[in-house]
Amino acid sequence: MRIYIVSDMEGVGGIVCDDQVRSSHSYYEKAREWLTLDVNAAVQGAIEGGATEVVVCDAHGANSACNMLYEKFHEGAQYIQGTPWTEYLQGLDASFGGMFHIGAHAMSGTAGAVLEHTMSSASWVEMRVNDEPMGEIGLCAAVAGHFDVPFIMVSGDDKACAESDALVPGIECAIVKYGISRTCAKLLPMPVVHRVIREKAKAAVQRAKAIKPVVVQSPVEIEIEYVRTSFVDGIKEREGVRKLGPRKVLFTGKDTVEAFNRIRGG
Ligand SMILES: [Zn+2]
Repeated sequence: MRIYIVSDMEGVGGIVCDDQVRSSHSYYEKAREWLTLDVNAAVQGAIEGGATEVVVCDAHGANSACNMLYEKFHEGAQYIQGTPWTEYLQGLDASFGGMFHIGAHAMSGTAGAVLEHTMSSASWVEMRVNDEPMGEIGLCAAVAGHFDVPFIMVSGDDKACAESDALVPGIECAIVKYGISRTCAKLLPMPVVHRVIREKAKAAVQRAKAIKPVVVQSPVEIEIEYVRTSFVDGIKEREGVRKLGPRKVLFTGKDTVEAFNRIRGG
């Protein structure tokens, strides 16, 4: 079974503040090593669970999506780094038997969630999909579901794990920290974090066939509320793109990928 891992940074063990996920800050250098090691624990668990191939997509936006450290890559996986992507999510297709999301964070507006946001805290207030609030975890699960790939494992803080659990019954959740406020958390030691990720990853591959892919009803309507009117000023109405107000735009598509590609400008 092939396993696809999409990695983010805010939900990595040890990370609690914005400066750790920004490449312009010196804190980032240490945090990217922690990210790499969390992902490696997931790769190791996937292989122990029976994965025949593991593809990792480095999806955190900093440093042109080159966050993980090349010299520390797990030899059992292949890694996609860099931008621009030619598709969302890069490298994902129907040949995979399951998706993991490592370093995940809760959607914007979640109380007590470490570094909560949806796509960009600078430009997005909220995303709603078919009139339900959704964050990046839901989006990853929905894009996987588009390819009939089940979303089987997540790692992040307790809020990210609760969000995943509500979305996908039976998903394996590795809690790596407990959110106290947006930039404060109760952390677990690194060996504990790696052990729980590895165990949950292994269990997820073993149970993958029992977890149903997430299905989003077609047509898919994605409503984005932006922070300022200037973000909407720059968007042109066209097929599948309609302005709902000075800060809100509705993107529609026959499926999640088509609707989301309209946000990306495609
Ligand atoms: Zn991120």
